[in-house]
Amino acid sequence: MNKNIDKLKAIIGRSSKVAIFSHTNPDGDALGSGIAWSNILKKMGHDVRFFVPNSYPSFLEWVSKELGETDIFFGKEDQKDFIKNAEVMFFMDLNNLSRTDGMAETIFPNKDAKKILIDHHPEPDTDFDISFSHPEMSSTSLIVYNLIIEGGLEHLLDINIATALYVGMSTDTGNFTFGNLNPELYSALAKIVNQGINPALLNVRLYNNYTKDRMKLLGHLLDNKMVFIENTEAAYIYLSKADQHAFNFKQGDSEGFVNYPLYIEGVNLSAMFIQTNECIKISLRSKGDIDVNNLARKYFNGGGHKNASGGKCFEGMEKAIETFVNAVKEK
Ligand code: 5GP
Ligand code: MN
Repeated sequence: MNKNIDKLKAIIGRSSKVAIFSHTNPDGDALGSGIAWSNILKKMGHDVRFFVPNSYPSFLEWVSKELGETDIFFGKEDQKDFIKNAEVMFFMDLNNLSRTDGMAETIFPNKDAKKILIDHHPEPDTDFDISFSHPEMSSTSLIVYNLIIEGGLEHLLDINIATALYVGMSTDTGNFTFGNLNPELYSALAKIVNQGINPALLNVRLYNNYTKDRMKLLGHLLDNKMVFIENTEAAYIYLSKADQHAFNFKQGDSEGFVNYPLYIEGVNLSAMFIQTNECIKISLRSKGDIDVNNLARKYFNGGGHKNASGGKCFEGMEKAIETFVNAVKEK
């Protein structure tokens, strides 16, 4: 990491216009790592904007409002101008530029900008000038924390940056229940909490902050739309447009639903299928050695991590479910 940090310092030392990007359907780690890193660079005196391709779930709205600005990309001229003229680009919590979705066609033509990856997904693309790629880390926010410390920037930490990092570390580990829960993570948390954050309060804001509609939808899905695939250790939940209308569904309302089948003993592989206007969005989760990254890549043109991945199917709900069931039975 040290050699790369020297390179990074040389690049950001001389640059001022910095565009930071994170992935489509931004989650807590996408927002937390991007906001924390943009706040650090702003404090260093750079002209920084943090872009995401579409909106984040409502339970994360406070993160962007209170901790630092997040610029949702609508292709406005001022956004395009900033990206076209950026001298440095950071890509957070993604391993592939296609994950920047609608922003990609504005990003690609800027060949002059140095492109730097900060990410924890396996098998990253190689077309970056510098890569801080650490699939062994539980969140991109932890990598950002390490960059801050190893880059000698600890004096720039403050309560907002610490909170943003906490949000990423917590949400990507299911509030510290899965992933690589190693001593390094807890050491980082000690320093972060030392900035004056209140983890108990943050846990309430992150996890006890859902709408009634979401809770009722969850009850409905668990009762009526959760299917156990016979003679396998797999289950899935499917969410149709009709159910979305019935429960006043808003983007992000189903965040975390895919984990529920895994709470059951003997269920080690779980899928969630969500009907959207464009496609069926698929989320996959597993316990232990079952690799859902490969499953997402092979069958759903997606990717992610060993125990958490996602993808898409453009042939409708039935076909998406059938593909999953066949894949599971094949194993
Ligand atoms: P989620 O199920 O929460 O949408 O995504 C879980 C994980 O899979 C995340 O790490 C996310 O980056 C990855 N992922 C989700 N959808 C896609 C996709 O369409 N393509 C790729 N490459 N990764 C995805
Ligand atoms: Mn992440």
